[in-house]
Amino acid sequence: MKSFDALLGASVERHGHLCAGQVIGVRMAMLGCRLVGIDDPTAPHLRKKLMVYVEIDRCATDAIESVTGCRMGRRSLKFRDFGINAATFVNLDTRVAYRIVSTESAREMAKEYAPGESTVHRQQLEGYKRMPDALLFDVQRVGVSLPEWEMPGPPRRHAVCDRCGQMVRDGREIVSGGETLCRPCAGESYFYPVDGPEGDACGDPPKEMHA
Ligand SMILES: [Zn+2]
Ligand SMILES: [Zn+2]
Repeated sequence: MKSFDALLGASVERHGHLCAGQVIGVRMAMLGCRLVGIDDPTAPHLRKKLMVYVEIDRCATDAIESVTGCRMGRRSLKFRDFGINAATFVNLDTRVAYRIVSTESAREMAKEYAPGESTVHRQQLEGYKRMPDALLFDVQRVGVSLPEWEMPGPPRRHAVCDRCGQMVRDGREIVSGGETLCRPCAGESYFYPVDGPEGDACGDPPKEMHA
């Protein structure tokens, strides 16, 4: 594993700015890799051995991606939208997994680890670099059920929606009332149709949607 400073530098370059989230994300990823016994996840012989689940789409996620080399496009980075600053690191060989949550108490304690800094922003940035892992994170050994269609590699499962004919890969279909459905047909959609050939940007969402 490269040094914290080298990993932070690479992550900041990729993310676009230095922020507390980069410090937390780099440290979380370094700890996660160490806990599951993968010293350098970007080494060629270890690249396919790590899977990471992230639970928020904010700054720290970019840092985790940068340190681990795990990517959504490789299916080695999974996003579960829980709104929690946490990630789970899974060794695909041993199935050893740890979930690491960034503690809320670290925000308050940051200033004690950065006594020379006057702004909250600087206190968090510097404090999070120096604070011990045990204060920065809650760590739990976990199991993660990984069906074969969650794994990297070609799709193991294909289904065809009974209503619209859309091909659905990787076990994401919904079976309901004897029908196999894609998620939009099952009513699990984030978009809604609007009238007109180019769409109507002012269209109101249907009442049943919260988007
Ligand atoms: Zn950021
Ligand atoms: Zn459908």
